[in-house]
Amino acid sequence: MRAHTSLGHVVVMGGSVAGLLTALALSDRAEQVTVLERDRYGDGPGYRPGVPQSRHTHVLLAGGIEALDALLPGLLPELRAAGAPFLSVPGDLGVWQADGWISRRNPSAPVMTPSRPFLEHRIRERVLAVPRIAVRTGTEVTGLLGSAGRVTGVTLRERGGGNGGGDGDGRRAEEELPAGLVVDATGRGSRTPAWLAAIGAPAPAEDVLDTGRAYATATFTGEAPPAGIKGFYLVPDPGQPLGTIVLPAEDDRWMVTVSGPRDDPPPTDPEGFVDFASRLPHPAPHKWLSSAEPLTRPVGYRHTMNRRRHYERLGSGFGGLLVVGDAVCALNPVYGQGVSVAAMNAVALTRALADGRTPSVRALQRAVLRSSGFAWEVATGADNGMPSAAGNALRGGPAIRLLTRYLDRLRAHVASDPVVCAANRDVLFLQAPPHTLVSSPRVLGRVLLRSPVPTPRDLPTP
Ligand SMILES: Cc1cc2nc3c(=O)[nH]c(=O)nc-3n(C[C@H](O)[C@H](O)[C@H](O)COP(=O)(O)OP(=O)(O)OC[C@H]3O[C@@H](n4cnc5c(N)ncnc54)[C@H](O)[C@@H]3O)c2cc1C
Repeated sequence: MRAHTSLGHVVVMGGSVAGLLTALALSDRAEQVTVLERDRYGDGPGYRPGVPQSRHTHVLLAGGIEALDALLPGLLPELRAAGAPFLSVPGDLGVWQADGWISRRNPSAPVMTPSRPFLEHRIRERVLAVPRIAVRTGTEVTGLLGSAGRVTGVTLRERGGGNGGGDGDGRRAEEELPAGLVVDATGRGSRTPAWLAAIGAPAPAEDVLDTGRAYATATFTGEAPPAGIKGFYLVPDPGQPLGTIVLPAEDDRWMVTVSGPRDDPPPTDPEGFVDFASRLPHPAPHKWLSSAEPLTRPVGYRHTMNRRRHYERLGSGFGGLLVVGDAVCALNPVYGQGVSVAAMNAVALTRALADGRTPSVRALQRAVLRSSGFAWEVATGADNGMPSAAGNALRGGPAIRLLTRYLDRLRAHVASDPVVCAANRDVLFLQAPPHTLVSSPRVLGRVLLRSPVPTPRDLPTP
């Protein structure tokens, strides 16, 4: 039964994971939800220009799995039946960090590794089946309507044929679409600050931390790695800046990403890509890659800065706009959090609106930001120590130096200490707040009072 319809007509800009899941979360309290998506969706899973990162390896963390299950009950078994791989980590994965393999006998938690287009397609099918949610594809939002105190709708333009990649000859006249609430889910490239300025509204403050990490990804086919390992994750750190993630996806494919700092980006020619992997701190991924067969050419990606925009600070008088997903909090993808966070944003909205509550849009915005909080702390906490890190969110001083030394020590324990490993995993998988790594007496005691036990250099056995 529907409770209130206090939100009126909700217009969601951007029909990717955050836009779709937010449409779902708000649909019970809206007269109608209209999702505006610049691209045209294909009939099945497929790459589209508006989501260039979808060619790169994606993992859904345990916290994101829980959130997705809460939003769309039944989706997880459906994904599994359709071939989405589920892995236990570290049990199934060769995870190398702080100069050693993590013991696969340490307690594990689940991750899911379908390709990004496959996951989005299944979410889309479910969300667009909700009667009050409609989508207009091939429709580009061009600006906001309203004044300094309130957003009241959007301006938009239908695009010509094709998949929305270019304007071509098909540009149509601009149209106005009024809304009770406008949601920005246009991702990392969100132009909302400029659109707000154009209607005389203030711009949000921004926190930025950028390490300049550069990515390249290609898809491979081949035998699984040895020792029952279902993939690799070699985590970069300040002393060792190269990383890789190798994960199975549906249809017996392997998604392989390598990453490096801004002055040592991975090449996007096929041979250079594989050669780059030979410089990783352990030879196993390169050895495996050399025997696998490429299915695609490598593609690069450079926009990896952590950036958080404080729309909740625009003032209690400001209304009509809610910003979600990467548009409000974009994270360095090396930690694999963005899709999980988009789902956690939507769960936070569902909870804030539960039981007929009618919070202000500002309170909803705060709930969204809070639900991104663990992920922001994890990503910026880890990036803070990288030599190339820059931005106004960079933190320094004696307390940070002490914390960094403690966390370095903690990471050295993760490989072999099951208690420290589980605590660290829960934080990385967005299931526990980062402060538990310093506030848990059990973890603290083991990190400070014991000596870390190095693990063997050979690939870890189950
Ligand atoms: C290299 C890389 C690897 C990643 N790996 C992971 C991972 O392993 N795990 C993980 O959870 N996350 C990962 N991420 C992050 C994840 O991809 C994003 O966090 C997630 O896609 C954000 O979803 P979103 O809906 O906010 O934005 P997006 O998915 O970027 O979607 C934005 C949508 O808005 C549309 N749009 C844009 N402008 C307009 C407009 N003017 N009008 C109408 N529509 C518009 C676009 O077409 C698009 O559909 C990775 C990101 C990168 C870059």
